Amino acid sequence: MEHAQVLIAGGGIGGLSAAVWCQRLGLSCLLVEKTDRLGGQLAQIRNEIVDFPPRVYPRGAELLEEMLLHPALGALSPRLEEAVLSIDPLSQIVTTTKAVYQADYLIIATGVSPNVIPVLEGCPRVLSTEFSTTVQAASVTGQDIAVIGGGDRALESASNLSQFARRVDLLVRSSTLRARSEWAERLAELPNLRVFWGTEIASFEPQKEKIALKLRPLHVGQPSEIVVDWILPRIGVHGNSGDFPSLATFGDGYLKTDEFQRTGYGWIYALGDVSNGASYASLSLAVGQAMKAVKHISLQIHHS
Ligand SMILES: Cc1cc2nc3c(=O)[nH]c(=O)nc-3n(C[C@H](O)[C@H](O)[C@H](O)COP(=O)(O)OP(=O)(O)OC[C@H]3O[C@@H](n4cnc5c(N)ncnc54)[C@H](O)[C@@H]3O)c2cc1C
Repeated sequence: MEHAQVLIAGGGIGGLSAAVWCQRLGLSCLLVEKTDRLGGQLAQIRNEIVDFPPRVYPRGAELLEEMLLHPALGALSPRLEEAVLSIDPLSQIVTTTKAVYQADYLIIATGVSPNVIPVLEGCPRVLSTEFSTTVQAASVTGQDIAVIGGGDRALESASNLSQFARRVDLLVRSSTLRARSEWAERLAELPNLRVFWGTEIASFEPQKEKIALKLRPLHVGQPSEIVVDWILPRIGVHGNSGDFPSLATFGDGYLKTDEFQRTGYGWIYALGDVSNGASYASLSLAVGQAMKAVKHISLQIHHS
């Protein structure tokens, strides 16, 4: 069994920042990342990043490239394609897909994953949740698209797609939008957009190159059907906390922490999106929380 002073789960900006702070404060750390690359959601950010001062980055890829030049990360040797599978909160044993660790401290920075729509499982015309309407909308020129969701990302996607698509159908489960009012106002001006309120997908049926979606009203009204070329689900995310059932959560799988990012167990910290909830998900918060968590760990070690 390998010993880790600080084991970091997740190689997104939160986990990477924690690694930088470990080096800064003289702690040894070991970072495991489930996929074959570092950066987490940074790879999906195709919009300009204007809220991570002092620089403006054209996309997440440029931010990541710059971040990986940091000397502390150059010396890190992250363990890629290794995922934390379980933790034993009492014995402080962490089991991953490749090893078992005895950890003094664990930092969970596992981020979030998109929610999926079970009824669409196996549907061949569902766009990936990583589909970027900022840069890929032109690929659906002249086609009919159903966007599912009522939050900011759904409305932003519908708005971007409407510039190229023949028609955009927005399917919203509730009778109101969760998105900011500026998005709702923008949608009202789009001539090729229809909104289906209080509606969910009951089933799908492939029709040559298209898909027929049977729609079920959640409150009043008759079932209906639309035929589209593509479906883009934008129904939010959940915290990647499923591997840690002993830790308390709030909302959609987000890990509860105290003001030092500590979970209910003194040796386990959580930071970044997995601990923040969708409304507060941001690069700057994840980075700041990494400082706080690692500084707190360092103070614990020095006090003992
Ligand atoms: C399209 C898009 C645009 C955005 N634009 C902005 C913006 O302009 N400004 C801004 O501030 N924020 C933006 N965000 C949000 C920002 O990207 C996130 O808040 C931030 O990247 C969260 O970082 P994180 O390290 O907490 O999580 P993530 O980046 O999600 O990283 C988590 C990592 O943990 C890994 N992992 C998961 N489970 C395990 C496991 N069991 N074991 C090991 N590893 C695991 C994952 O593979 C991933 O690499 C955007 C997000 C998206 C998707």
